[in-house]
Amino acid sequence: MRDGEGRLVEYLRLSVTDRCNCRCTYCMPAGGVPMLSHADVCSFEELVEITAALAELGVRKVRLTGGEPLVRRGVVGLVEMLRAVGGVEEVDLTTNATLLAPLAAPLRAAGLDRVNVSLDTLDAARYEAVTRGGRLADALAGIEAARAAGFSPIKINCVLMGGVNDDEVPRLAALAREAHTEVRFIELMPIGEAACWPRGRFVDASAVLDAVPELRPCGTDGVAELFSAPGWAGRVGLIRPMSHRFCSRCTRVRVTADGRLKPCLHTADEVALRGLHGEALREAILAGIALKPAHHGMDGAHASESARAMNEIGG
Ligand code: SAM
Ligand code: SF4
Repeated sequence: MRDGEGRLVEYLRLSVTDRCNCRCTYCMPAGGVPMLSHADVCSFEELVEITAALAELGVRKVRLTGGEPLVRRGVVGLVEMLRAVGGVEEVDLTTNATLLAPLAAPLRAAGLDRVNVSLDTLDAARYEAVTRGGRLADALAGIEAARAAGFSPIKINCVLMGGVNDDEVPRLAALAREAHTEVRFIELMPIGEAACWPRGRFVDASAVLDAVPELRPCGTDGVAELFSAPGWAGRVGLIRPMSHRFCSRCTRVRVTADGRLKPCLHTADEVALRGLHGEALREAILAGIALKPAHHGMDGAHASESARAMNEIGG
């Protein structure tokens, strides 16, 4: 399926819950946000039906996100159900990894293909502050369990924040010295809690290349520009939605936990899919895809136009 700009849409980011066991400062307010009621959240059967309809239209890759997808009870079973959907070639997970340790092996057995872990710091006190209560040791145990279960490469996603973790770039990047690790630095976006953060928090990801000058370009992976250094077995990725808008290469569509299709992370457009079946579902999806904008409108002066916070959409 192609959108109005001729971009192939083949990647679904499926939010399975808006709930989370952390409260990252850039994602959720300290006091939490009003959560969807259980009745508002799609059942696994509904999520599978929506995914199957998208797969019929050409979606090949599904990534579970949230909120924290691992707080949703039965998520291992959902992976198995999605992996069985005709046309779906890959099911992946984005997680803070704090609940991953006991689930990594069962998820692998259920057919999960890849794991991306969000990890913004390697300092335990800072981790607790950024996540408002999370334990670094739990996240590291989750990463280790994922390695032991056979996930490879493991991608570590780190949101760059000026004055918060930009001094840790060399240490975080050095994780990619090890085999099968890709450390991806992501530019902070003015959405949700970060929408009105001060300019100094928004760091151009080229700062990573200044901090680790031995890095050399070595290709691309989706929207990530890849780098490596002599003697390093893994790679460093830069994801630069702000300084190097990559919308012309966007292959994504998002579905929220309450079953609404979001053609773009940063526009307010949404199309309700819940309760639709067959041709009606297919038509609603196509109508949503037609709303995919050519590019987002964020810059130093304009925040995201999304009416939802990141924990509701899934990044
Ligand atoms: N809870 C899971 C996690 O943290 O990996 C999945 C959901 S989280 C919303 C998905 C991704 O969005 C995370 O990597 C997080 O760092 C990123 N994110 C949240 N708010 C962001 C912002 N304002 N700018 C850039 N990335 C953001
Ligand atoms: Fe939770 Fe992920 Fe948002 Fe952090 S970034 S509060 S872990 S949903």
